[in-house]
Amino acid sequence: MHCNDRMLEILGYQRDQLGMTFQAWNALIHPDDFTPWIAAVKAQLRDSTVPLRMSVRLKHASGRWIWMMFVGAVVDRSTEGRALRMAGVAMDVQAQKAMEHELRHAARTDELTQLPNRSVLLNAIEQAIARGRAQPGYQFAVLFMDFDRFKQVNDTLGHSVGDELLRQIASRMQDSLRPGDSLIQTSDFAHVAARIGGDEFVVLLDDIRGDLDAEIVASRLIDVLSMPYSIGVHRVVSSASIGIVTSTHAADDADSVLRDADIAMYEAKRTGRGRYVMFEPSMRHQVSATVSLENDLRQALEQHQLFVVYQPLVNLGSGEFAGVEALLRWRHPQRGLVSPVEFIPIAEACGLIGALGQFVLQTACRAFAAMPFATACSKSPSLAVNLSRAQLRQPGLVADVQDALRANGLSPQQLVLEVTESLAAQDAVVLATLHAIRELGVALSLDDFGTGYSSLSCLHELPVNYVKVDRSFVSQAETSAYHLVLIEATIRMAQTLGLGTVAEGIETQGQAALMATLGCDKGQGYLFSKPLEAPDLVAWVLARVVA
Ligand code: C2E
Ligand code: MG
Ligand code: MG
Repeated sequence: MHCNDRMLEILGYQRDQLGMTFQAWNALIHPDDFTPWIAAVKAQLRDSTVPLRMSVRLKHASGRWIWMMFVGAVVDRSTEGRALRMAGVAMDVQAQKAMEHELRHAARTDELTQLPNRSVLLNAIEQAIARGRAQPGYQFAVLFMDFDRFKQVNDTLGHSVGDELLRQIASRMQDSLRPGDSLIQTSDFAHVAARIGGDEFVVLLDDIRGDLDAEIVASRLIDVLSMPYSIGVHRVVSSASIGIVTSTHAADDADSVLRDADIAMYEAKRTGRGRYVMFEPSMRHQVSATVSLENDLRQALEQHQLFVVYQPLVNLGSGEFAGVEALLRWRHPQRGLVSPVEFIPIAEACGLIGALGQFVLQTACRAFAAMPFATACSKSPSLAVNLSRAQLRQPGLVADVQDALRANGLSPQQLVLEVTESLAAQDAVVLATLHAIRELGVALSLDDFGTGYSSLSCLHELPVNYVKVDRSFVSQAETSAYHLVLIEATIRMAQTLGLGTVAEGIETQGQAALMATLGCDKGQGYLFSKPLEAPDLVAWVLARVVA
């Protein structure tokens, strides 16, 4: 055996500390690497057509292990073929090994939160499923959670705040799952907590006693995770919705279990947020119904199943016709009329909202321009078109609006765009779009006021011209003092800010009279007319003028 000084240096020995024999060197090899090493050497002695190439750990003089790679071959044989001499090089591969380790860790870990990632989780679920099959009585649960306002936090406060929120969520989650947490008495079972994407976290509870254990953990997590987060100067409130699949209803592969838990989570969101829902197989059908509606919606545009109806607005003081609101309709070949409340969210989720919005804008502008009163009236009536939040994020929106007006010879002053999301005001992109619309000369109306996040105190921050008091307020104005006071305050505030007011969903003479008394400018509702197709609307207006 021979080696150079550099080799000794790497391993930290003096030349006289190491016997130069095969046995002495073998004694340095890590026990776990020894057997494969000897096997590789023997193979090389038998057949040297392929060089030996292997990394093993050798004991450094200090006691720690050093990864070295040996590449060598038999270079001399006797006439009978016996190996006489081997030569090769040894390389310090410590750095590569560290990198490999890091890569393996990275492949298993979510970098942001340092939690295990999706592949680790899927593996663990797979094992739980296998154990469930082999061992009667063994039960597990998968908790799928999603944060209810994460996207808005990310969009409005920036990604670094969003990242920090995720880190805090991860650490709260781990703290509350830690054994010994006095609030979960059941926390003696093992778990894997993973982050599998954006704001999606999953906890696998192993070896639970029953569904109730999963429910206890879920409600504890919801409590802990819903407490406000402080991130720098920001205070963020973000509640969690959880979907639970337990072994009772678990599918037989990990992907399907995760998908079912996601379905239950979606159900939790849909039915109120900040809660948990246990998965039931019937939920799968609801989801497939949404998927098929989505497919049908893709065809609806081409097959002319979509059309626009118009509901008149009247001046509450004079009773005069004041304008129309365009409302989208879908005549589904099998289902009949599908409500926009049902299909607009689907269009937003599957990216069809842009095309749908274009269709409404163009159709409504064309139909409105063709109505005889569009330009003839003294106070020319307005056309209102609804915009969804997703449309406000589409880059071409302002140009589309301008094109639709120009193509139909309408002036910007005749168009009103209705928007609902007041949180939009905190979002720089949306706010810029709203201002650009206003710069065209097109008016903005804040729809469904009173129902969402909108509040009186932030009304002045929004570049709107009108406020539409939501139908739910109007319908209770005569019976609920609370609603009446809010409507009064809204109208007063709007007047102070120089904004027009519209009351939605007026169904009775009483409501119309009350709104007029409160000083509301315009009204809209079944009392005056339901939404009508364009020719019927024209007839309605003419009949009113004659009357
Ligand atoms: P919205 O903009 O608040 O529209 C008012 C809704 O109230 C309409 O329902 C209308 O038909 C209904 N309505 C009007 N008067 C009365 C009444 O006296 N009583 C009752 N019970 N209801 C009344 P619709 O057409 O089903 O639309 C629902 C929502 O769907 C709209 O609320 C709007 O947010 C959305 N939407 C409709 N069309 C479009 C569209 O073209 N684009 C977008 N983005 N959203 C639309
Ligand atoms: Mg509207
Ligand atoms: Mg409304």
